[in-house]
Amino acid sequence: MILSEITSYLNSQFPLSLQESYDNCGLLIGEKNTEITGALICLDITEHVLNEAVKNNCNLIVSHHPLIFSGIKSLTGNTDTERLVIRAIRDNIAVYALHTNLDNHYEGVNSFLCSKLGIINTEILKPLPDTLRKIVTFCPVSHADQVRDAILDAGAGQIGNYDSCSFSSAGEGSFRALSGANPFVGEPGKIHTEHELRIETIFPSFLENEIVAALKQAHPYEEVAYDIYPLLNKNQHTGAGMIGTLPQAIDSEEFLNHVKEILQIGCIRHTNLKNKKIQKIAVCGGSGSFLIKDAINCGADIYMTGDIKYHDFFIPENKMILADIGHYESEQFTKELIYTFLKKKFTTFALFISGTNTNPVNYL
Ligand SMILES: [Zn+2]
Repeated sequence: MILSEITSYLNSQFPLSLQESYDNCGLLIGEKNTEITGALICLDITEHVLNEAVKNNCNLIVSHHPLIFSGIKSLTGNTDTERLVIRAIRDNIAVYALHTNLDNHYEGVNSFLCSKLGIINTEILKPLPDTLRKIVTFCPVSHADQVRDAILDAGAGQIGNYDSCSFSSAGEGSFRALSGANPFVGEPGKIHTEHELRIETIFPSFLENEIVAALKQAHPYEEVAYDIYPLLNKNQHTGAGMIGTLPQAIDSEEFLNHVKEILQIGCIRHTNLKNKKIQKIAVCGGSGSFLIKDAINCGADIYMTGDIKYHDFFIPENKMILADIGHYESEQFTKELIYTFLKKKFTTFALFISGTNTNPVNYL
């Protein structure tokens, strides 16, 4: 298996354009043509994880947290990161990170966490803005099905639980082919009018190149007329955190004990439980304080995330329970999630889930 086959697949499933501006996802170490003998999946890269990779004959590590997060100006081994980078290069181990592009994916970290905790009817808590576009094209009636199918096959037309969504309306297109043109219909130098369909549909912005390429491939005209519009619609397939419901309302303390057991958390810090039943649950794996107000606005009974600071606990003002379930603990299933995605595509490839607990936090 060549490294670029794996990275291309991961980039197509979890586009780098979905990562947050501060992040550093994608291939961090390695040459694209390298033959990969096996891949180890982990949350964080440590010395122990590198040993594990060598032991399992893996020359690729796919991690959730990027090993290189900010710019490195020298590699002298002065910091842990520098030592790990030097060691990875020395041992010919490629390194790839799937971080906030996985967090922001509808089937990513939070969806997986919800399924582990029995939360259903899930939706993105804070959809990413400016991630949807509309494409409109004009096509002779005879080729409308072919063009529509090509655009939809390239990934356009998804709305909620529906795919293949599009709208077509009839009209007349007119044009004059100039010298040098080779028109599909009409004659050079004469205005031509053609019965055409206006076909329009929605698509996620990261698929723009693929969809335009598919359109041009399927459209019979030499010059394809198409428009792309930015949309203000919320993208329910992309964004931070997740909100859903439990099948039935449950006592808040009982629910948190359930979470503690499933995630094996040493301690949960939380606001007043108010002896109240809860059903609407918001989560964000990792560090999710930035979503506290969104969870309140969405009517969550409880919001669970990691890295909550003292003053953050005042924000809900008893409108909602806020619980710190640990950064590591809330992301621990991410290894299994990445494994599942890779195994689905590369069924016989040697994939390993790291057994190293890289949580730097201990509980007394
Ligand atoms: Zn994290």
